[in-house]
Amino acid sequence: MSFGQSTQRSSAGQVVVIGAGQAGLAATRALLERDIVPLVLEAGDRAAGSWPCYYDSLRAFSPAGFSSLHGMPFPGDPDRYPTRDEVAGYLGRYAAGLGIEISTRTRVVTVRQDGHRFVVVTADGRHLLAGAVVAASGSFSSPHRPASQGQETFTGALVHVADYRNPSAYAGKRVIVAGAGDSAAQIANELAPVARVTLAARHPLRFIPQQIGGKDVHYWLRETGFDSLPAEWLNKITGASVITDSVGFQQTLADGALDVRPMFARFDSGHVVWGDGERERADAVILATGYRPSLGYLRELGALDAQGAPLHSGGISTSHLGLVYLGLEFQRSYASNTLRGVSADADAVIAPLAAWIRDAPRTIGLTTPQIHRAGSPVFFAEEDRALARCGTDVASGCSTGR
Ligand SMILES: Cc1cc2nc3c(=O)[nH]c(=O)nc-3n(C[C@H](O)[C@H](O)[C@H](O)COP(=O)(O)OP(=O)(O)OC[C@H]3O[C@@H](n4cnc5c(N)ncnc54)[C@H](O)[C@@H]3O)c2cc1C
Repeated sequence: MSFGQSTQRSSAGQVVVIGAGQAGLAATRALLERDIVPLVLEAGDRAAGSWPCYYDSLRAFSPAGFSSLHGMPFPGDPDRYPTRDEVAGYLGRYAAGLGIEISTRTRVVTVRQDGHRFVVVTADGRHLLAGAVVAASGSFSSPHRPASQGQETFTGALVHVADYRNPSAYAGKRVIVAGAGDSAAQIANELAPVARVTLAARHPLRFIPQQIGGKDVHYWLRETGFDSLPAEWLNKITGASVITDSVGFQQTLADGALDVRPMFARFDSGHVVWGDGERERADAVILATGYRPSLGYLRELGALDAQGAPLHSGGISTSHLGLVYLGLEFQRSYASNTLRGVSADADAVIAPLAAWIRDAPRTIGLTTPQIHRAGSPVFFAEEDRALARCGTDVASGCSTGR
């Protein structure tokens, strides 16, 4: 794998990428291909995104042949469904192949504006000046926990699926899994042999078969062009979440090993109360209710709406010049927040970002003061020069051990 090695790269730090999961790595690849060496900041201790934190039994819903980032095919049988750890390993190798140092254990706590530049503030107190920012921090650290009536009285375990690892804690228990997406179906299915399980959903479940005409559905998502449909249309087409039944949930349901009910109305001490008034004891409720973008560090900047969602169009910030997003659900298409789709999105947002960094508006004669100019020759405050130099050294192959 070789990205943008042939020509001289821009000095590191002009672009700060926040997050080194698949989205941050795809962004980094797209930047390197345009001879821009970013400074990549990752809160965790390695570049694998949230994959190592997913539940133990997780297998990718897409076959290996449809689970690659650009530039490095997923190894092995293209028809198999890779395990969680295989995906994490693949991302680690992809990160190594990019050939730049990734600043791990570096959490961004806020981003501010300083004239024409951004100031990226890290938990360890660094203030990094940047001409452009790629927010690729995923959503796993922001589980969505919708409040239910009487929740504070519930004496059972109320957990989000983000904290679920395996069935061991639930053996012999009465468990309600709340949700209507892939995680809800997979975890309900996994618990069914050891616990008494109900999947409770706010709307009827909708399934995509894993195989159609002997081929995986991902083949058809590509062949039919479904993956290219614009995000704006998808809500009208899919309605709500759709389950790729990769684990045989529908068969388990048909076998009577679990059941599906409309979402319960409220909690009442050790019980849930169903819509028909039935009050039933529950040992645990697992919320498979999704996530929200982990972008709290952009609140101070004013880049988010009142609900904390980014103001953007296709991943391009509509509030701040030089700010882009990657890895948002339905950012541009059905495939945006997936291994198979994020690389195309990276090219779509990094191309304009590169033009911005290279000062395209000024070059064509647009120098109005209203334009937020990213291409300032000075990107680093005095205290950050060491960091900038470090990044530049890395770009020329020198490992600084930072
Ligand atoms: C349970 C589950 C199963 C999935 N299965 C599949 C699948 O089979 N196939 C598929 O294609 N997709 C799947 N997805 C969807 C998607 O591919 C994954 O969620 C993927 O991890 C998203 O990658 P990401 O880089 O956008 O975010 P993440 O993987 O979450 O990576 C974001 C990175 O940013 C870092 N970060 C966060 N905040 C900060 C901060 N403030 N400062 C610095 N760093 C920060 C995090 O530590 C993390 O490393 C699944 C998702 C889930 C939740």
